[in-house]
Amino acid sequence: MTGIYIHVPFCRTICPYCDFVKRPIKGAAPDAFIHALTREIEAYDGDLDAETIFFGGGTPSLIAPESLATILDVLHRKFRIASDVELTLEANPDDITQDLLDHWKALGVNRVSLGVQSFDDEVLRYLGRRHDADGARRACGLVAASFLNWNMDLMFGPHPVSAYPATLAECASFAPPHVSSYGLTYEAGTPFGKRSHEAIDEDSYLRLYALTAESLRGLDRYEVSNYARSGFECRHNLRYWHNDTYAGFGPAAYSFLDGIRARNHVKLEKYLADPGGKCEALNLTRREIQIETVIQYLRLREGLSTIEYEKRFDSSLRSDFGDVLRALVSRGLLEETVEGFRPTAAGFELNNEIGLALVDAPVR
Ligand code: SF4
Repeated sequence: MTGIYIHVPFCRTICPYCDFVKRPIKGAAPDAFIHALTREIEAYDGDLDAETIFFGGGTPSLIAPESLATILDVLHRKFRIASDVELTLEANPDDITQDLLDHWKALGVNRVSLGVQSFDDEVLRYLGRRHDADGARRACGLVAASFLNWNMDLMFGPHPVSAYPATLAECASFAPPHVSSYGLTYEAGTPFGKRSHEAIDEDSYLRLYALTAESLRGLDRYEVSNYARSGFECRHNLRYWHNDTYAGFGPAAYSFLDGIRARNHVKLEKYLADPGGKCEALNLTRREIQIETVIQYLRLREGLSTIEYEKRFDSSLRSDFGDVLRALVSRGLLEETVEGFRPTAAGFELNNEIGLALVDAPVR
């Protein structure tokens, strides 16, 4: 079984903090892109059993329903798609209409991920988003009424920071079964990169992070930045956190198949001329895959069990990484259980420290 990721690199407007691969577009995702994408899918020769499909971006809600039908038709002809497939589509609140949601449902979309970010107009203006708070409320109402399984994306850290508690309260009023909340970063190479002096300090960051978990009662923080009602965890993203395989299609999409992490051409023109052509392909060593697997699992509340590790690598977690994992236990970032290791509350807050320690783990 594998997961399918489709990257849709178009947005109506460009948010100044965003470092995803995207470009501005006026109308729907162009036919040239849809044709290239379907050619790439048709030429794929990897694992054909798929249990998740995730349309990410960019703004996948800019795909016209007839183009989405074409892409899904090609996927269904090429892959053996599981009958209980999780089919997610990311959407901008401004694109949501009842008509569009009806089309998506008819085409088999069963999970919508809505990029709300905030219910505060000043925050949304600061972020340069194209929707306003009322647009977010309207979209949440429509999505919640049509889809059992949906996600609300939120962001903490943008100014005015004081608006975040009210956004969390309003989020709860829509009772989404899944919420992702990430801290705003001021990435170099984006317009926000030059405004990094506006970033909140670490204490405020940690306070807002803690407030998120406290406010989203009823949702379990099952991953560092992701919260879900039991049974609504994102199966596609769990594949990344379990370091499982996935096949990526579209410009800049990554794949991880047969131990090779590869990335499609990033530039749209190159992709259109050579869909599926790679700009990089790394044949990961067994050790690199082991390290990545441990790091990814330790982003999850469930952590990593020794049995899972042994099943996967035919080797012992405690002999391969015991020293570094126990050092992380003594620093209070991990907890050792009968099953294996999992992050503590501090391990969630300072999760990158766990990654850094494992990357430097001595080879045994
Ligand atoms: S809509 Fe999303 S992908 Fe597009 S620019 Fe804004 S944050 Fe980036």
